[in-house]
Amino acid sequence: LKSPYSGGHLEVIVGPMFSGKSEELIRRVTRAVIARQRVQVFKPAIDDRYHESAVASHAGRTVGALAVRDVAGIRAHLSGEGPLLTASRAPAELPDVVGIDEVQFFGPEIVPLALHLADAGVRVILAGLDLDFRAEPFGCMPDLLARAESVEKLTAICTECGAPATRSQRLIGGEPARFDDPVVLVGAQESYEARCRVHHVVLP
Ligand code: ADP
Repeated sequence: LKSPYSGGHLEVIVGPMFSGKSEELIRRVTRAVIARQRVQVFKPAIDDRYHESAVASHAGRTVGALAVRDVAGIRAHLSGEGPLLTASRAPAELPDVVGIDEVQFFGPEIVPLALHLADAGVRVILAGLDLDFRAEPFGCMPDLLARAESVEKLTAICTECGAPATRSQRLIGGEPARFDDPVVLVGAQESYEARCRVHHVVLP
């Protein structure tokens, strides 16, 4: 062997809403903390400011996380201050593990960041929706899935028939959403359910 193994790699956890992506991210991160590894967890912020927050699963488990507005926010806060990923920055200053939840909401710049971290020896664990409410590939996810060393595709339980659910049903006022409905609908009563292929409905 010519040089020691750095361990850096990219793990992606995907599936529809309620499939346990956050639970699985929390499980992996908690084990890394038990192993005394330096761990940082990020998630997208709903508002403009970064803040201390938590990744929470629907079943109620949580782990501390920093909510950030965009990929620049992740770079700025990775393991301390200052611009990250300059040539002078030693990999030793990076955390051992970086976890990101709801990764589908970040822009395409998440891909080079994840790859750079993995190249620098970081174990990168990303969790997010593989499909949007139309069951179309979600933003940066196809790219991340293709580049990951490991992919875990989880299923939820279809609320209509109990089958494994691979899709997120968007409901507006209790009715299936339309294909062209905007992703953010102001003032609408919106909800989501896990559905299988048969029971997932998108109105034309
Ligand atoms: P995700 O991050 O994929 O949205 P979470 O980890 O937040 O999922 O939540 C998963 C948990 O949601 C499950 O362990 C279960 O307790 C609960 N849950 C609620 N509805 C469903 C459903 N239809 N199918 C599976 N789990 C569900």
